[in-house]
Amino acid sequence: MDDIIIIGGGIAGVSIAARISKFMKVTLLEREDSLGYHASGRSAAVFLKDYGNNIVKALNHASCDYLEKANGGVLSPRGLLMLGSMRDNDSFTAESQKLGLTQVSLKEAKLKFPLLNPQTTKHAAYREDIFDLDTDLFLQNFLREAKKNNTQVKTKSEVYEIIFQNNYWKIRTQNGEYSGRVLINASGAWVDEIAILAGIPPINFTPYRRSVARVPVPGAEDPSTWPLLLGVNEAWYAKPDAGALIVSPAEEELVSPQDAWAEDLTLAEGIDRFQQFIVPRITSISSNWAGLRTFSPDRSLVIGPSKENSNFFWFGGQGGYGFQTAAAASQLAMELLLGKQPSLPSDIVRALAPGRFN
Ligand SMILES: Cc1cc2nc3c(=O)[nH]c(=O)nc-3n(C[C@H](O)[C@H](O)[C@H](O)COP(=O)(O)OP(=O)(O)OC[C@H]3O[C@@H](n4cnc5c(N)ncnc54)[C@H](O)[C@@H]3O)c2cc1C
Repeated sequence: MDDIIIIGGGIAGVSIAARISKFMKVTLLEREDSLGYHASGRSAAVFLKDYGNNIVKALNHASCDYLEKANGGVLSPRGLLMLGSMRDNDSFTAESQKLGLTQVSLKEAKLKFPLLNPQTTKHAAYREDIFDLDTDLFLQNFLREAKKNNTQVKTKSEVYEIIFQNNYWKIRTQNGEYSGRVLINASGAWVDEIAILAGIPPINFTPYRRSVARVPVPGAEDPSTWPLLLGVNEAWYAKPDAGALIVSPAEEELVSPQDAWAEDLTLAEGIDRFQQFIVPRITSISSNWAGLRTFSPDRSLVIGPSKENSNFFWFGGQGGYGFQTAAAASQLAMELLLGKQPSLPSDIVRALAPGRFN
């Protein structure tokens, strides 16, 4: 029997496996053939320190040091440029301040992003300390650590039955049976489904789809030094990515847990909103994808033991911040599992605890 069984091989499951396997015997179960197949393979790979509610921001800030330094670091400079049109006259200042941006002239903005259309763009604001986050390297670093500590990683292992008996969990997958003392639910969009299988009341998580189109850079310029580009109220965003641009309508489409895909109309909407701020025409999409951003009812992560059964540990609701919060979130999960005093302030720990929901 193991000490810990983790369900979910995304950034949440792999990061907590790395942390806790130093102290306990761990098995990680993932349904798909490979790790990071769902949300964790579909992100925009950005680290935006001041993105999310105050609880999420506390996790972002507490993750900074690890993201910058651990295993040589996973961040590289990107910058963020918010663009607004005449329609945004009333909201631009407040929106840009929310993300800690400073207003810049259109001339400065065009130097940073040469495709900018000065006829339609009326406002610009910029922040330097926004980073690309190498999500694959980050996940692989955690995985290496987990394996070094003898974590058993089982892919193609969909959990379909969970029984709690004599104080331990018996977990059936299509690839075998596992047992452990503590079950960590890190199953992304499926967290409520796993809870129900385990006889724990669901928290009412909501998976929202977000779509991304990869487009050739119009005018064939080299985009590598351009910043992340963002519309007011997160109406769209665009980012240089391996010589191309990724463009998202930043939608939040409520869906059931699933292998998400992008709809043509949604992708076109995102491109249309971005197109309004640039001169050359975007004429084609080279590839696209969608992923699920899964939120708890108050949009903060849920980290801690269930009040119904303290051997069931919630690690869900990573929303749109699963990578940028992973270092601090997994640290907190480890401290709680080991019964140690959390390094985060107690009000933050309480705001992340599952017990806050009735
Ligand atoms: C378009 C987009 C852009 C994003 N941009 C960013 C960003 O810039 N920065 C950032 O920090 N975050 C971003 N995110 C959010 C981030 O990707 C997620 O928060 C994070 O990946 C969630 O990780 P997870 O491990 O909780 O979920 P997942 O990666 O979905 O992993 C959960 C795993 O559980 C497995 N599972 C479920 N049920 C079972 C079962 N019964 N048996 C076995 N396994 C099971 C699934 O197969 C899945 O692999 C973005 C997300 C999207 C979609």
